[in-house]
Amino acid sequence: MDFTLSPEIESLRLKVRAFVSEHVIPLESQASAYDAHENLNEAAVAELRRLAKAQGLWAFQMPHTLGGLEVGVQGMAALYEEAARSPFGPLAFHCAAPDDGNMILLNKILKTDAEKQRWLVPLINGEVRSAFAMTEPEGGCGSDPSLTYTRAEKHGDVWRINGRKWFITGAEGAQTFILIARTSNEDRRQLTAFLFDAQQPGWRIERRIPIMGPEEHGGHCELVFENLEIPDQNRLLNVGDGLKVTQIRLGTARLTHCMRWLGLAKRCMEIAAEYTRERMSFGIPLAQHEGVQWMLGDVAKNIHTGRLLTMHAAWKLDQGDFARKEISMAKIHVADTLHQAADTAIQLCGAKGYSRDTLLEWIYRYARQARLVDGASEIHKMVLSRAYLEEGADFFRWGC
Ligand SMILES: Cc1cc2nc3c(=O)[nH]c(=O)nc-3n(C[C@H](O)[C@H](O)[C@H](O)COP(=O)(O)OP(=O)(O)OC[C@H]3O[C@@H](n4cnc5c(N)ncnc54)[C@H](O)[C@@H]3O)c2cc1C
Repeated sequence: MDFTLSPEIESLRLKVRAFVSEHVIPLESQASAYDAHENLNEAAVAELRRLAKAQGLWAFQMPHTLGGLEVGVQGMAALYEEAARSPFGPLAFHCAAPDDGNMILLNKILKTDAEKQRWLVPLINGEVRSAFAMTEPEGGCGSDPSLTYTRAEKHGDVWRINGRKWFITGAEGAQTFILIARTSNEDRRQLTAFLFDAQQPGWRIERRIPIMGPEEHGGHCELVFENLEIPDQNRLLNVGDGLKVTQIRLGTARLTHCMRWLGLAKRCMEIAAEYTRERMSFGIPLAQHEGVQWMLGDVAKNIHTGRLLTMHAAWKLDQGDFARKEISMAKIHVADTLHQAADTAIQLCGAKGYSRDTLLEWIYRYARQARLVDGASEIHKMVLSRAYLEEGADFFRWGC
């Protein structure tokens, strides 16, 4: 495959880069631009979005017919990475999690125009936020979805939901929820996916779970369902297709995480390079010490490997393939690389790296979730091992 970007994507990439430099990075050092959860406050996000929309830099992942730029997954890989040169860039262009993954899913599986207008268009326009509720506390769904205990029982034309979910990103203040619940005990057909609105009675946010890193808007919440009623018409795909819905969502969403994490990892290098070029140690700049070069060189190599894995998986998705193995490899590698990049940059910036005078400590705390969200690294290794044992030498075949 050829990694050259088309002239259209390259031109968009340069615009995104200029936008992030001009409008987003200056906000990082303004205390007044932050909310109580170390994210940008609503006013700052609204202004960034107004500017991004005015420049035509909005919703790269959505179809033209619904107001997006429809750049394809490879185009997204180039643009999301550039957007995430600042952790707040993806919010500006509307390619941040979890709305990004939810929009991609709904665009793929909602069938009628009326359904898209009802659930998807307000989300694309940025009028509402969304959440995806699957993981459960206390013995329920985590790495193993077959443990799901939140049940949906059918009464006439209505599904009644009872159970509990947790770590649901963005739940506080979200309008549109995608919920995965158990509808049967039939193997691989146990789960079904539903849509519901925040205003529907029968569910509540028990708590916003405190975490070690900065938070996405709406936090990571624990939800309780007590007889939430969802009309059958708000079911996604068929009864028993919940796992399929999850796979459709998580496939691309895992890869878009990688695209953004690569942007953040590159930013860590940028900060470390600036410091080590200037800071003197034993008569020469830090960057001229071989030990420092090995550290920076190793991160550079791992970022490049992550970009190849991510772009290859993106290319496969653009060919209509599910790219399961490729996405798992990218997810494992890029999560580790983001962590390594932040850690190395902190080390190279010395005490300053550990301070809040740079963005590095923010990125370091945020990076720890990368090895857990959307499947722990061990689960992705399990997926790869299973595929290898099944395919043997074919696992490494060329041409696909
Ligand atoms: C910041 C954050 C945001 C999240 N947002 C959402 C969200 O919006 N919606 C949502 O539904 N969920 C969300 N999650 C949950 C996330 O998807 C789960 O944390 C993840 O799937 C792992 O499940 P678990 O935490 O229950 O880990 P468990 O299943 O309890 O596993 C614990 C650990 O055991 C190991 N392990 C598990 N199984 C195996 C195995 N077979 N082999 C080897 N090792 C294994 C892994 O190291 C794993 O990390 C979020 C989590 C975090 C941290």
